[in-house]
This record gives sequence, C-alpha cells and structure tokens, in this order.
Amino acid sequence: MCIIVKKPRGIHYKHLQGDCLVCISHCQHEGYPVVRKNERLYHINHIVYEQNYGKIPDGLFILHHCDVRACLNPKHLYAGTHQDNVNDMIRRGRDKCMSVCLKGEDHPFAKLTSREVREIKIKLRDGGRVSRIAREYRISQSCIGGIKNGSRWPHVLIA
Ligand SMILES: [Zn+2]
Repeated sequence: MCIIVKKPRGIHYKHLQGDCLVCISHCQHEGYPVVRKNERLYHINHIVYEQNYGKIPDGLFILHHCDVRACLNPKHLYAGTHQDNVNDMIRRGRDKCMSVCLKGEDHPFAKLTSREVREIKIKLRDGGRVSRIAREYRISQSCIGGIKNGSRWPHVLIA
C-alpha cells in the first residue's frame, strides 16, 4: 500500500521500520535526498511537503518527526523553526552522539573544569607560556594550544 498522497515522478522508496519511506533512487546531500533542477539542488522532502501541504511558510525548515533524513513520508514531515529542530534533537538525545556538540565538562574526556579553563585563558591572555601551563595543569600542550586558538572550550569566555 502506498501512503504517499502525491509524489514526484521517478522516485523510488524502500519501506523502513515504522512507516518511513526512505528514498533509494536519488543521491543524498548530507543525508537528505536531492534532485538537480536548473543547476540547483532541491531537497526532495521539500517537494513532497509542498505537494501535500502547500508552500513551505517563509523562514521555516522541513523537519522530520521520525528523525530519518532520507524519509519522504509526508506524514513524517512538518514545517518548523530552527529552534524546533534543536528542541527535537535534544529530546531525542541525538546531540549526545555528536561529539562536536559536547561541551567542556560534559565531554567524557574532559580533564578540566570550566573554572580551570577560565584561569588558563586568563594566563594565556597575559602571555603565559603554553608549555608551562600544560605542566601546571597536567594536560597536553596540544590541549592548551586548542584552548588558545579557540578550537577547544570556545564556550568558556573571559571578560
Ligand atoms: Zn519517516
């Protein structure tokens, strides 16, 4: 049984767990199936949404209730804000899987507290040497280097 109300031509689906309809006929961009039209890439889930519910309201994103990016079941699609998307991710705990989102002390490999990082940032700002600070806090110089260049603990700010 096909539960797609209307669907773009030439798209093939595979049923997944639940009633997700996963696109298998088109290539994906960041997990989302896309079509190329007039030298532009269009997300197929946008097309499916618009065919079933009408135009996507300005400024809204097409999100998945099911969290399966390649799913094109219109019943699983909804228009929401970026914040809805973030809330969804938090609810599902997906953010836990993305180490880039883990901050400081929540990170399983955290060796420093936010307070210590703040101290280190102040020392660096005041001209402290990376090697000396690394010894003082018993962490690697590359870790201190990361704090210095902002790739680690960027959320800890000093006034
Ligand atoms: Zn789905």
